[in-house]
Amino acid sequence: MQLKTVFSGIQPSGGITIGNYLGALRNWTRLQDGYDAIYCVVDHHAQTVEYDPRVFHRRRIDTAKILMAVGIDPKRSLLYYQSDVRAHVELAWMLATITSLGQLNRMTQFKEKADKGSENLGLYSYPVLMAADILVHKAHYVPVGEDQTQHLEVTRDLAQRFNSRFGEEFPIPEQITPERGARIMSLKSPTDKMSKTDEDTSASIFLTDTPDEIRQKFKTAVTDSGHEVVYDRENKPGITNLLDLLALFTGRSIDDLVAEYHDMQYGYFKLVVADAVIEGLAPFHTAYAAISDDDVRGIMAKGAAVASERAEESMRSVREKMGF
Ligand code: ATP
Ligand code: MG
Repeated sequence: MQLKTVFSGIQPSGGITIGNYLGALRNWTRLQDGYDAIYCVVDHHAQTVEYDPRVFHRRRIDTAKILMAVGIDPKRSLLYYQSDVRAHVELAWMLATITSLGQLNRMTQFKEKADKGSENLGLYSYPVLMAADILVHKAHYVPVGEDQTQHLEVTRDLAQRFNSRFGEEFPIPEQITPERGARIMSLKSPTDKMSKTDEDTSASIFLTDTPDEIRQKFKTAVTDSGHEVVYDRENKPGITNLLDLLALFTGRSIDDLVAEYHDMQYGYFKLVVADAVIEGLAPFHTAYAAISDDDVRGIMAKGAAVASERAEESMRSVREKMGF
């Protein structure tokens, strides 16, 4: 039986956060077995916010290295840079011609990022390029965090529209989101999601942060009024986010944690969470230090060659269906 295809991408737009890890990357590693797994450093997406080309160049390499260090195994997954496979951009153009402006106008990520000063056509058409990323591989499943639900809906709509207008080509991809950790919140503003591009770097824990940095960031994390450790997203978003992190990094249940820490002062509780995160990231740090830039270059070049061939096969069929 042919394995179902899994595809997902991550932008080299900043340091990779524990939000990225818990919302997406953990599932990426799990889906390597039993699926045809394809993962991509989506560097063209990262161009949609203002960037310094030299910093960007370094981040592309570091992002690939981080993926390998969290456990994306090039023997079991196809891993490559989006910009190495031209078909992404070509298919994005094809799909752009059947994308409705009304739908793009409703994208909340565009509004949020445009409000922060990144208004440009690339950012506006981000969901179309994302659809191309997924559809060029005819993916069945897309492991992402909750914030990508709206974009994935665009992908599904475009796949449906293409199929009905030009003939059956794309499976309709389904989102895979973890039950817990699908939306890790900012340490400084627990009603907003943690983001790698947050200007306040103390709001996010990066996988590459040192133990001291992690401890410092948790110390200054915003908690809530009151002094009970309870799970209540509405009224205690800060503590609830910390409980989610502790549960995810220790594998313990929320009930169990609340029973143990209910009466602990917030200042001490934050340090408990910090220690769990530090311990949880230790294997990552060891793996990360062992991967060289040359390793990354070699693996990414091999991945690009295989991905290009596969994507080109899809494109031949797409072009023909569209009358080329
Ligand atoms: P940016 O600010 O550049 O958009 P980001 O942190 O949102 O950065 P992306 O590269 O856009 O990172 O997303 C990579 C993956 O991480 C996506 O699957 C996304 O849904 C997931 N993700 C991003 N932030 C979170 C979060 N706070 N909690 C859970 N998953 C997240
Ligand atoms: Mg994002």
